[in-house]
Amino acid sequence: MARHRSVDVLIVGAGPAGCAAALTLARAGVAATLLEGAPPEGTRGELLAPGSVRALGELGVPDLVEAIENFTVCRGLTLASADAERSTRLPFTGCQGRLVDRGQLDGALRAAVLRAGGEMLPDLAAVSPTWEGTRLTGVLARAADGREESITCKALLDASGRRAFLSSRMGWAFPYPRHRKAMAWSTFSGVTLPDWAPGDHVALVAMLPGFLWLTPLGGGRVTVGAVLDRRAWEETGASPDRLLGKALGASPPVDWLLARADQEGPTRAVSSVAFRVMDVAGHGYCLIGDAAGYLDPAVPHGLLAGLLTGQSAGLDVADALLHRGRLTAVDFGPTITLTRMLQRQQLGLVRNLYDKDLLAVLLAGHQHLGARDAFIDLLAGSILPPRRWRRLARAWMLVELAELQRLTRHLGSPIFEPL
Ligand SMILES: Cc1cc2nc3c(=O)[nH]c(=O)nc-3n(C[C@H](O)[C@H](O)[C@H](O)COP(=O)(O)OP(=O)(O)OC[C@H]3O[C@@H](n4cnc5c(N)ncnc54)[C@H](O)[C@@H]3O)c2cc1C
Repeated sequence: MARHRSVDVLIVGAGPAGCAAALTLARAGVAATLLEGAPPEGTRGELLAPGSVRALGELGVPDLVEAIENFTVCRGLTLASADAERSTRLPFTGCQGRLVDRGQLDGALRAAVLRAGGEMLPDLAAVSPTWEGTRLTGVLARAADGREESITCKALLDASGRRAFLSSRMGWAFPYPRHRKAMAWSTFSGVTLPDWAPGDHVALVAMLPGFLWLTPLGGGRVTVGAVLDRRAWEETGASPDRLLGKALGASPPVDWLLARADQEGPTRAVSSVAFRVMDVAGHGYCLIGDAAGYLDPAVPHGLLAGLLTGQSAGLDVADALLHRGRLTAVDFGPTITLTRMLQRQQLGLVRNLYDKDLLAVLLAGHQHLGARDAFIDLLAGSILPPRRWRRLARAWMLVELAELQRLTRHLGSPIFEPL
């Protein structure tokens, strides 16, 4: 028979979103229990955009990354054409990001949660939600050895990432009809980076309709990932190695870079990357981080969205529990608004990144009244920067320039070299 346990706040998943929520709750004096049930995905480098570094400060752990064994300062992104003949640096202005090993980042976040008084139930995966009418009251959880626990809670935060515990069980997740992508990635050592892809930048190599990205980890280690159209997944026989190989085949300079490098582990892949969820909150629950929807790894905002929505949901739960004792969907209003705003912003960035005319403008390298700066500001994760409207107007100008490029390209004399 399943053991029974009752907790105040249950958080499914101890990734960045779950840990951000647990840290926020701990600071507000509300007990949170984290379930972490899935095996680790292996090592990979990720960019903590400047906005994510700021978010860690707001969570009360400003030095978290600096305490990690290995991390590298990231000064911006480099955008390159597939043949690397053209490349341009998009430096973060007045701020820096961090390039981190995700395993180490998660380890540091979980240690911070435990230090703050949070509870962690490792090796226990949520397998099904339990409901009383429309109110979510808890989950049934299972350990790898088959042991089961029924856990009831006053509030549940689903921070289970792309595995999307609640929405996949409830049929709430939908693919983006016009953005069907697959991705593959692996980490390599013994890589000597070329001049066009410096070690303190994430390189984005455009091979539309997809991208390769290179995330340096220092010491000659680099995570190389690829996002391609979903049909490439079928064409390559659902093989992660062949999917990554197909992307590398489209960019000889990156392929050449890895020819003499050592691959550290297996190639990993996700067959269907982008999904959205209609309702991200209801009575007693809220979806945060990737569990609330995910779009594309070419815009490195996943950690930012996880940390911000985790913090916001933590504040919503603490406020409702401390003042009213129970939660309705309305209590999650601030987190719902934030999630939608972040998703809209990401959708805009993704649309622009996949626009070959806008890429041609960016690759041309000119500064058009600060339009490039505005774009990199958004990529840096400055979601509500000071002078927001001026920056948005500048970013809009970039879009207008792309329109001009499109028009002149159709007329046969493009103002910038086409991609
Ligand atoms: C190859 C790759 C590169 C990326 N690069 C970047 C980057 O450079 N910058 C960036 O910002 N973002 C990047 N992202 C996106 C980023 O990794 C995610 O957006 C981020 O991890 C989301 O955090 P999360 O906490 O929502 O989910 P996750 O980090 O996925 O955490 C979810 C946790 O829940 C656990 N879990 C899942 N199901 C259950 C269950 N049923 N019961 C219990 N536990 C469960 C999982 O084991 C996991 O620990 C990248 C993603 C990929 C795949």
